[in-house]
Amino acid sequence: MAGRNFLFVPGPTNVPDRVLRAMVVAMEDHRSPIFPELTRACMSALKPVFKTTTGSPILFPSSGTGCWEAALTNCLNPGDKVLTSRFGQFSHLWMDMCQRLGFEVELLETPWGEGAPIDRHLAALRADSAHKIKAVLVCQNETATGVTSDVAALRRAMDDAQHPALLFVDAVSALASIDFRMDEWGVDVCVSGSQKGLMLPAGLGVTCVSPKALEAAKHSTSRRCYFDYADMVAANASGYFPYTPSLPMLYGLRESLAMLAEEGLENVFHRHHYLAAGVRAAVLQGWKLKLCATDPKWYSDTVSAVMVPEGVSGAEVIARAFNRYNLALGAGLSKVAGKLFRIGHLGDLNELMLLGALAGAEMAMLDAGAKLEPGSGVAAAQTYWRSHSPAPGKTA
Ligand code: PLP
Repeated sequence: MAGRNFLFVPGPTNVPDRVLRAMVVAMEDHRSPIFPELTRACMSALKPVFKTTTGSPILFPSSGTGCWEAALTNCLNPGDKVLTSRFGQFSHLWMDMCQRLGFEVELLETPWGEGAPIDRHLAALRADSAHKIKAVLVCQNETATGVTSDVAALRRAMDDAQHPALLFVDAVSALASIDFRMDEWGVDVCVSGSQKGLMLPAGLGVTCVSPKALEAAKHSTSRRCYFDYADMVAANASGYFPYTPSLPMLYGLRESLAMLAEEGLENVFHRHHYLAAGVRAAVLQGWKLKLCATDPKWYSDTVSAVMVPEGVSGAEVIARAFNRYNLALGAGLSKVAGKLFRIGHLGDLNELMLLGALAGAEMAMLDAGAKLEPGSGVAAAQTYWRSHSPAPGKTA
């Protein structure tokens, strides 16, 4: 098909040309005396992205899923109990992994469209006077439903309950796009990946571990090898890796981290909020449709899950968008399959790119039988963006 493919799934996201160019490199010796410069550049630029001074960033040759597994097998002992809530496909999959690895799960079943229920977490932690719960797991941004949970409030609940459990946060579709604060929120493991806010191809599991998590790892008897934190931290300390790292990914990461630093992390968050708000204006005011997120307090600034009108198939909208308009939208997963489509609005993007996605989604919905006013979503987004500023503190 002529023209560019419009990639608007919530990861992988568009890789900036500058990052693509930085990745086109001849291979090098990863044990050379100059190699540590690259490792150190990546590690030191990652720390501010995690908002940590005490945590250790770790890069696994995996995706986010590998970092989920690493968190569990490094910090917990076989059969340990974890507390988590399930409100979408990704919070489900992490919980499922816990069970498959033999951990005991206390699960707070939560409607899809809501985020982590802080009051129920607090009650569960208070009830656990024997401190059997060893870790609390939360998905900061549930990519399947476009819902963001309040991690700071979860930390406060853990403190209120005076509970010593570790806090593991899945920030796969949040890091470098929605505020995340490793140190301030007392996060012990942050799990993420390269293919979303970090604007890279998939292939790097990007995680960060607190001193408390590393201490727990020293005493954990869970079996692990490739994903062992201690091996990685020891090798990274001298600027190397315990196994052959992907050079293009490291060069790409160094470049994407430079881009984030140049824009400024707070500006990056602001841009994501501003773009997301325009998309929400299109969905709610333009198309007069609903989001899967049931309350504004859950709205995600990285992905909007749009409920299709009654009688219209979300799968048909996605197929039409792809086949006819060269636009990739995210599918409804599991429980919400066919009921919604997702627009990813994270990473390297601006208003005009998103207007293309909104126009394509609008045409695909009309083709699939939705009764919408043509142009209504695009107009609502334009109106929003024309009256707001992409930079914090500036007037439009
Ligand atoms: N967690 C969330 C919130 C995700 O969105 C994803 C993937 O989209 C994952 C975990 C799994 O990450 P990966 O596909 O990088 O293994």
